[in-house]
Amino acid sequence: MKINNAKLFKTVYELKQLPPEENIEIAFAGRSNVGKSSLLNSIMGIKVAKISGKPGKTRSINYYKINDKDFFVDLPGYGYAAVSKKEREKWDNLLQQYFINRESLRLVCILIDSRHEPQKLDEMMVSWLKSMEIPFIIVLTKTDKLKSSEKNKKINNIKNILSKYGQYEYFPVSAIKKEGTQELLDYLDMFIK
Ligand code: GDP
Repeated sequence: MKINNAKLFKTVYELKQLPPEENIEIAFAGRSNVGKSSLLNSIMGIKVAKISGKPGKTRSINYYKINDKDFFVDLPGYGYAAVSKKEREKWDNLLQQYFINRESLRLVCILIDSRHEPQKLDEMMVSWLKSMEIPFIIVLTKTDKLKSSEKNKKINNIKNILSKYGQYEYFPVSAIKKEGTQELLDYLDMFIK
C-alpha cells in the first residue's frame, strides 16, 4: 500500500461526533510514549496532531483520511500516570463504546515498545479486543533501539508472553529508521477496500 495523501479529517471528543460509517477504518492504540505519533507521521508523511496526555486536557480520537478514502484512527494513548481515576474511567468508557459499536472498524494496531515486556495495560488491551472479537495485530515499536544481537530474543519473548491470548501477527518497526513500515502498510492494504 502506498499513501499518496493523508489529512486530518476530524477530531472527535464524544461518540456522537464520530463520522458516518461509510469508510473503512484502521485504528492505532498504545500506551502513551510508545511511539504512536512518530509511526503515524512516518507512514502518512504528515505531522499528526499530538493528543494531549496532560491531566484535565480534553483528549480526542483523531481521524485521518487516507488516499481520499479510508481512515486511520489515532486513539488516545493509555496509561497516563497523572490522569485522575474519573478521567480515566471516562476515557475507558468512550473507547469501549467505540470498539463495541464501530462496524466500520476493520483492524486495530496495538503498539508495544519492543524493548520492554508487555505491561498490564498492553495485556488488557489484547484480552479486551480478543473478547470483543475485534481483529488486531501487534506493532513492536522503536526496534532501532535494540542491538541486532538482542532483537530476535526480545521480540520472541514478547510473542511468548502474549501467546497465552492466541496467535497474532507481529510487525517490528522503527519510525526513525523507517524499517518495517512498508511491510506494515502492505499488510494493512488487505483490510482496505
Ligand atoms: P506517542 O506518545 O505514542 O505518540 O509517542 P511519540 O511518537 O511522541 O514518541 C515518544 C518518544 O519516543 C519520542 O521521544 C520519540 O522521538 C521516540 N520514538 C518514537 N518512535 C521511535 C523510533 O522508532 N525509534 C526511536 N529511537 N525513538 C522513537
